[in-house]
Amino acid sequence: MKKVYLETFGCQMNVSDSERISTTLEKDGYEMTPDESVADVVIFNTCSVREKAEHKLFTRVGRVRNSGRKKPVVGVMGCVAQLEGETLFQKVQGVDFVLGTRALGRVSHAVNETLGKKRKIVDVGEREDDYDWTVADTHRHSPYVAFVPIIEGCNKFCTYCIVPFSRGRERSFSAAKIVRQVSELKEKGVREVHLIGQNVNSYRPETAAGLEGFEGKSAFTKLLRAVAETGMERIKFTTSFPRDFRNDIVDAIEDHENLCNWVHLPVQSGSNNTLKRMKRGHTIEKYFEKIDRLRSSHRDIALTTDIIVGFPGETEADFRDTVKMVEYCGFDMAYIFKYSPRPGTPAFDMEDDVSPAEKTLRFLELERVQRATQNERIRRYLNKKVKVLVEGRSARNANGLSGHSTCHKVVNFEGSSELLGNVVDVEITDIKANSLFGRLA
Ligand code: SF4
Repeated sequence: MKKVYLETFGCQMNVSDSERISTTLEKDGYEMTPDESVADVVIFNTCSVREKAEHKLFTRVGRVRNSGRKKPVVGVMGCVAQLEGETLFQKVQGVDFVLGTRALGRVSHAVNETLGKKRKIVDVGEREDDYDWTVADTHRHSPYVAFVPIIEGCNKFCTYCIVPFSRGRERSFSAAKIVRQVSELKEKGVREVHLIGQNVNSYRPETAAGLEGFEGKSAFTKLLRAVAETGMERIKFTTSFPRDFRNDIVDAIEDHENLCNWVHLPVQSGSNNTLKRMKRGHTIEKYFEKIDRLRSSHRDIALTTDIIVGFPGETEADFRDTVKMVEYCGFDMAYIFKYSPRPGTPAFDMEDDVSPAEKTLRFLELERVQRATQNERIRRYLNKKVKVLVEGRSARNANGLSGHSTCHKVVNFEGSSELLGNVVDVEITDIKANSLFGRLA
């Protein structure tokens, strides 16, 4: 039996794709191995959102090629594969096959063809209509948590982003199938599902099948309510697109305890000038309205975001607006990035006129402001009880357990392995930058 080693870079969508790649390969007679050194086939499932991720791929392929042992077949899948196609063979020596983001179902064919035959394969074609989205239980990243893709691709074309080119246009999956899938996962003992997609709240399925009778102005809100009614213990969803984030999503969270109290809503900038150049489709005033609704909820919804500093044309005044926005919103966590141009995006042709030194200064200042807010906000959990899904043993403490709260904070506490997979109450006794520590209540 030939052995396959699969390494994943990037977001949840890639992790979810990798679960399906492993499922397909094993079904077709390959054995997955966590040990690269014994593998006959090494596959990299790649990300192209940041330049660093691409460089990592080039380094990793080089290392496999120079490892000195019998050379395995090397495959590149995911976003870099989709964007580069055949040119990847010239850019990275030693790649045997290139499979794009919608060619996952044909991975076994690519491996079969390249193993032994010394023939290179490139496939950046479309997904099969009858593509099987099922993930085998053994290939889920966790026995207790499952990713359920509800939409793929993106139509938004924010000027800095490569995703609409690497993942293609938005395609929403059947609500009836999603609901059935969640019910089946519940039967199998999964305690938490994450409804995932580049923009989950832009969900627009071809038919309303599965959504009939559910309240909501958008198909996404109806879907949230339909999934909540399956009785799945915890439901999270990410990522949300601000323009499509309607208040009735918060109504649904308030009506259903199993819809978790965490929303990731990437704002990117606090300046309307910059948001316009980014082509985000929302103003900062509209964004604040959504924040106000989220903050007014009795569910104490944790709010996280993404921000880019130093976007082309960002003036000192624009940056000040971003600082004010961060102070106003009080994010529980913000992923802050310094802008770097990505070839193939519209912003690549804009003048990258904020110097690297200035980007660093802005990054550090914003990080300081955010950290102060974050430290303040996380204190509200001290001496409170949070519900934690126990997902694994802690890496640092022999008696330690670790899991996530409903508000998606990492929580560490002591307890026995018998608790794995259970939802327990933990009283918070200590806090760190973004994690909580406590004892079983
Ligand atoms: S919404 Fe914008 S940032 Fe998000 S994936 Fe689409 S283009 Fe990229």
